[in-house]
Amino acid sequence: MKNLKKRDKAVNWHPYTQMKTADDIIPIVKGKGVYLYDDQGKKYIDAVSSWWVTLHGHAHPYIAQRVSEQLQTLEQVIFAGFTHEPAVQLSENLLQLLPGNQKKVFYSDNGSTAVEVALKMCIQSGYNQGKEKTKILAFKDAYHGDTFGAMSVSGRSVWTKPFGEMLFEVIFIETPNPGNLDDVKVQIKKHAHEIACFIYEPLIQGAAGMLIYNAEDLNQLMKCCKEHDILMIQDEVFTGFGRTGKLFAADYISEQPDIMCFSKGLTGGTMPMGITTCADHIYNAFLSDDKYKTLFHGHSFTANPLACTAALASMELLLQEETQLNIKRITDQHSQFAERLKKHPHAENVRQIGTIIAWDFKNGNETSYFNEIGKKIYHEFLQRGIIMRPLGNVMYLVPPYCITSDELDFIYRQILEVLDVFKQT
Ligand SMILES: *Cc1c(COP(=O)(O)O)cnc(C)c1O
Repeated sequence: MKNLKKRDKAVNWHPYTQMKTADDIIPIVKGKGVYLYDDQGKKYIDAVSSWWVTLHGHAHPYIAQRVSEQLQTLEQVIFAGFTHEPAVQLSENLLQLLPGNQKKVFYSDNGSTAVEVALKMCIQSGYNQGKEKTKILAFKDAYHGDTFGAMSVSGRSVWTKPFGEMLFEVIFIETPNPGNLDDVKVQIKKHAHEIACFIYEPLIQGAAGMLIYNAEDLNQLMKCCKEHDILMIQDEVFTGFGRTGKLFAADYISEQPDIMCFSKGLTGGTMPMGITTCADHIYNAFLSDDKYKTLFHGHSFTANPLACTAALASMELLLQEETQLNIKRITDQHSQFAERLKKHPHAENVRQIGTIIAWDFKNGNETSYFNEIGKKIYHEFLQRGIIMRPLGNVMYLVPPYCITSDELDFIYRQILEVLDVFKQT
């Protein structure tokens, strides 16, 4: 345990981190509930659920117990030609909660792979049926992950720039609002003859800066896609499992997507796992005596029994009345805080959906991921014992559902103070 910082620097390369100018890293030795503890004994409230994954708090005893039992029973088995109880049970349980047309579950390892599988399902289901449409429709500032396919369907940005030439062609549209909805529909119609599928983050675009848009506008776009035989991939990697106040963003929408993607909160944030679900007509497009029509995709750890068990345990906790009441309580408390923030001269575009609240810190500079204020704010909050990782000057809270009212109030107070501290910069 000694010298973790030094040893880390010698061997580790961290995600989304410029290693040359990286700040001092914080060794974490323990997690419990909403808190993470560093090697100096300082505790931090994890207000971003460790990159939006932790649902019920860290080291949850029930999930730990279930996974540990599974670990001693069956830790892993090849998922081609074999199956196991946790995978079957999890698929059964999950499908029951999804839109009625979702009928099959395909397992992978993370959000990006869930998206890759979804894209392959769309393109190959068309290919198998002799369809010629292969282009993909996405939102201009979408984020669907960091692997090549997922990058391709994400907005073009500094993150994707070095790979620009290698990303496949995507037709980008604006996120809908009541003012541009008709224009966006016109765009879709114009390209409908070449578009195989539309991929979108429903209701809130997380990585783009927690941009929230209207469920009814999305519904309209989905209707338009359906009319033009464009498949729909709903990426619920972030929105799934209660984040938006309902179990899934799908619960706000009447149209049904053809394919859905899940990860992040799926296992309660304990183990990496991705899921892609699909409607029968997608699945059926692969059924054939022709072996070439198989979905040739899989990962070594497809449907890992430990991850499936963690997901089963997490979903059990999620559906408990206590957790549902917590989600409602956080939502209400956020709403009240949003009203206060709206009156604050240094907070702009205050927005909220369920347990997610976000706003732009107004410091005279442009709203962007590279707005330097984010880093300063991040350190200020760390000092105050709160992990908040702004996206540039976009500040947000995505707390685990076990956070108490007092802990939330503590965070809100610190936010108001920090907004004042930094108003000059
Ligand atoms: C985080 C995220 C992904 C990518 O998931 P990873 O597990 O990080 O690969 C995909 N889609 C959305 C909407 C996300 O928020």
